[in-house]
Amino acid sequence: MYLADEAWPDLRTYFEEESLALVPLGSTEQHGPHLPEGTDHLIAQALAREAAERTGYLCTPTINVGVSPHHRQFHGTMWVDAPVFRDYVESFSENLAYHGIDRIVFVNAHGGNVEHLREVGRRLHEAETAYAVEWMWDESIPELVDDLFETNGPHGGPKETAMIQHIAGDLVHDDRLAEARDGGLTEFEYDAMRVHGARTFYDAIDNTDNGVLGDQTDATAEKGEQLFEAASDQLVSLCDWLAERDRAELLPKDHV
Ligand SMILES: [Zn+2]
Repeated sequence: MYLADEAWPDLRTYFEEESLALVPLGSTEQHGPHLPEGTDHLIAQALAREAAERTGYLCTPTINVGVSPHHRQFHGTMWVDAPVFRDYVESFSENLAYHGIDRIVFVNAHGGNVEHLREVGRRLHEAETAYAVEWMWDESIPELVDDLFETNGPHGGPKETAMIQHIAGDLVHDDRLAEARDGGLTEFEYDAMRVHGARTFYDAIDNTDNGVLGDQTDATAEKGEQLFEAASDQLVSLCDWLAERDRAELLPKDHV
């Protein structure tokens, strides 16, 4: 069920029977010469809408600009400051709670949002407003991601390329996949980038000239479909698990 398509009397029925909502979140930021800036929010939205369709749970509109200042040197990248993002998502969640939602899945596809969504989840939990969990699609299927691709790269690599080939193939410049690989950084290891233990870079451009990492030529729409189906299965299972919990179980424990 997609909230924005429904008339309010039908939503009343939903809120009487269920108390779970899926909130898709991503970014609008550079994803190299071959992928659209909307990559992350397109992925989050497609997965959340798929899970909502399969289960009947409620999916809200997508939050499609996130915390992306580390991509700002590339044309078109959009972002909001982290504190503004946290306050916005918290307020958005309080709105859902007002209608009767007490459990939320933040369906996320942008690494830069993770720590902030965790913080918002903590605030909502402490205030006993709702129990919200952050879910990052590729972290739900790490083995499959590893099996399908030789050199993944954390941003704009083959896993995201394959996903967009599957869900919005018209937006992928398939003729630029080799250019994406050759103009970026293929092999990337966080630990190898450290200087005496310190992480010394802040922006994507510090490590990659064209903004992306990994070997994009390894991506196909068929692999994207496998990723999409496997991640959707995980998301559906997470929603069912969350819906089955007693409310008391989801509240903070008392002081000892
Ligand atoms: Zn991305």
